[in-house]
Amino acid sequence: MHFVLATIALLHKACGFSQFSEYRISLADDIFSIKHVVSSFRNYNLEMDPYTAKLHYLIQSSRRITIFTGAGISTKSGIPDFRSPNGLWSKLKPIQYQDFVASSEMRKEAWRRKIVIDEDMRNALPNRGHRAVAELVKSGKCQNVITQNIDGLHQVSGILEKNIIELHGNGTYATCLECGLRHELGPIFEAFDRDNTLPVCRRCNGIVKAATISFGQSMPEEAMRRSEESSLECDLFIVLGSSLVVFPAAAFPKIAKSNGALLVIVNHEETDQDGIADLALHREIGQVLGDATNVD
Ligand SMILES: [Zn+2]
Repeated sequence: MHFVLATIALLHKACGFSQFSEYRISLADDIFSIKHVVSSFRNYNLEMDPYTAKLHYLIQSSRRITIFTGAGISTKSGIPDFRSPNGLWSKLKPIQYQDFVASSEMRKEAWRRKIVIDEDMRNALPNRGHRAVAELVKSGKCQNVITQNIDGLHQVSGILEKNIIELHGNGTYATCLECGLRHELGPIFEAFDRDNTLPVCRRCNGIVKAATISFGQSMPEEAMRRSEESSLECDLFIVLGSSLVVFPAAAFPKIAKSNGALLVIVNHEETDQDGIADLALHREIGQVLGDATNVD
């Protein structure tokens, strides 16, 4: 028995697990179980630092992962965080949904802003963080990616629409507010650039708006329902690049955690929910998740 314990202690040291204490870990008992040491050591990559190794272990040992992404996963793709202190939304007063519907002047202002925002979004490509998420979906471990982003980069990375839940809609196309028909942005921008022509639906003459959820617009019911279900049925909930301040979206990690799932948060800054997380890393998403899933 002494030999076994001594061996475990040596393995811990070799893997650098003692350094975990620098982070907020509530899995201490589990980490130091024989099962964990054997399993982690088998998969251990000498290039992996202890925190990445722990994320790798949590992913390996989970059966059903739900991923929740925010603006932080897309910054490496060149899409600015509009909510950041220097972001567009902190400089301009948001246009309320009711004002958009009621006033053609407001609609013009909205399309003017949309064209500016779109310059960053149009040429953006998925980065290593998106690719790692796509790999987890492809492997079957992750069924649902809940996203606060409107950039459509999870789709571009190869994840099917049925596996993506968009809480704030999608900014890469527009829809008719009356009949829901999809309209592409290219022709809308062209007509607006030419003489400020506002788009109308070719099927019903309704008002056409970017397919995002605006301020003053209610959250999409179906997306909220699916997000809640997905939070309740997972055994590992991973937050990537969200400061978890925008509710009701920020409630999903708590729902998952209080239902028994383990919670991982990877975000550049600290979040209010780091305290309930089993692992909270303030690091670059692509690097840590890419290393943990062996995706370049
Ligand atoms: Zn229509």
